[in-house]
Amino acid sequence: MTLFAGAGTTSATSHFINGEWTEASGPTFAVRNPLNDELVADAAAGTAADMRTAVEAAAAAFHAWANLNPGARQQLFLKAADIVDRRHEELVALMAVEGGASRAFSSFQIRLSSAMLRQAAGWGYLPAGDVLRSDVPGRTAMVTRKPLGVVAGFTPWNGAFYLAWRTFLLPMAFGNTTVIKPSELAPMSAGLIHAEILEEAGFPAGSFNVVTNAPGDAAAVSEVFFEHPAVRCINFTGSDKTARILGAQAGRALKRMVLELGGFNPVLVLDDADLEESIKAVTFGAFLHQGQVCMNSRKVYVHRSLHDEFVSRLAERVQALKIGDPLDPEVIIGPLITDQAVAQIHERVQDAVDRGATLVTGGTFEGRLYAPTILTHVPADAICTTGSDETFGPLLVIEAFDDVDAAFRDAQDVPYGLSASIMTRDRARGLDLAQRFDTGIVHVNAPTMASEAALPVGGVKDSGWGRSGHYAVEDFTEVRLATMSSEPGRYPF
Ligand code: NAD
Repeated sequence: MTLFAGAGTTSATSHFINGEWTEASGPTFAVRNPLNDELVADAAAGTAADMRTAVEAAAAAFHAWANLNPGARQQLFLKAADIVDRRHEELVALMAVEGGASRAFSSFQIRLSSAMLRQAAGWGYLPAGDVLRSDVPGRTAMVTRKPLGVVAGFTPWNGAFYLAWRTFLLPMAFGNTTVIKPSELAPMSAGLIHAEILEEAGFPAGSFNVVTNAPGDAAAVSEVFFEHPAVRCINFTGSDKTARILGAQAGRALKRMVLELGGFNPVLVLDDADLEESIKAVTFGAFLHQGQVCMNSRKVYVHRSLHDEFVSRLAERVQALKIGDPLDPEVIIGPLITDQAVAQIHERVQDAVDRGATLVTGGTFEGRLYAPTILTHVPADAICTTGSDETFGPLLVIEAFDDVDAAFRDAQDVPYGLSASIMTRDRARGLDLAQRFDTGIVHVNAPTMASEAALPVGGVKDSGWGRSGHYAVEDFTEVRLATMSSEPGRYPF
């Protein structure tokens, strides 16, 4: 089956359950190009019954997948990585029409995805546990890491291709089977295309399953994840708003949950920073995928001695970014995903300007193409600068500072804790600040978006918990203790 051949309308009206493309039992829904509303695909409007079938297929496949030897698993992951690389151009086109992703962003995701597959291919050989000493004579204690069972995953529409891999590949690398529910805004790049790749690579039936749902049906379809006893963990990547709803459900069902949520991602440009490097890092960090990535920088604190030059040179660089159809390889700024996304950004820009902020560049839009926007002198109560609610688009706030400690405190005074950056030529000073940042990730002299497949990505505070890379072993396995005694026990009664 080829879901997407790079052009024209595609039929994606099947779920992928137990190694089979299962035609939708009910209606379908339209997936449209966010640039021009052209139909990209029809997708299956799945039901809770479809999801239950998928969960049961994953449960039935668990024992065999968990016990597959590491070498066999490794071959499958390596083969999938080669397929991802081979399909590079097709995937770029899919991410452009389904999610508005520029070539720069989709190529970044494709490279990360095949790198992660190659990394994960070796994880089957990680130590399976520890042998511990016991205080009881003649007793040996063995601690073994075991997969959990079925891990259910929610994938977001943004960065969908890479994040979907991250959602199911990490659990699968540690022996779990998976079912994912892709975002209804991008069901192919958030899950169905992965099924095609794993099918071609020869993954066993039931080890990976996908059920798509129509807009408005997510809660009803995913209810099964919380109800079904075979689901042992729910791996969610998405907004903190949705996470609060699902977290409450997981609490009631006593299910383990991993949460990869949004961020505020401040950048501190210290007085000794390399200005040119800082401008490049901030342009990339703030405007990759038109600001619709969890790790995009939302606010830059610049030392007052550099502020004016920083702002004018950054604005010049940002104004040169080509806006338009992401199928054009030179376009960096594609469309925002929905009209609501455009409205959110525009309201926040207007709110700040109404309160007295200076609009340096941007603040305009055509359809869903929103010009990258920079604001300075933003009053402290404007929503875009408080970090109290994630801004998810091409809007960057720049603030001058005199006292680095005050800027540092302000940058931390937000509910999110995903990523942060410090730009400085004094690496020791940078590292000292970095160690004190209350975020899951902090970079010295790199953008807030500096992911690598092998490095642990994840947040603290309202940005969630759980880590990628091989650190995910903590999230997707559990420790089992077995003891063995070779001497008679001593009992008090
Ligand atoms: P979202 O929360 O709207 O949706 C995420 C998933 O949850 C989708 O599959 C969606 O269908 C499902 N969903 C939404 N509401 C639901 C409900 N009531 N019941 C059941 N399922 C529901 O997020 P999004 O708009 O797709 O993605 C963007 C968000 O994700 C941003 O907040 C971004 O910061 C965050 N994100 C975080 C990371 C990370 O690694 N930390 C990565 C990417 C995106």
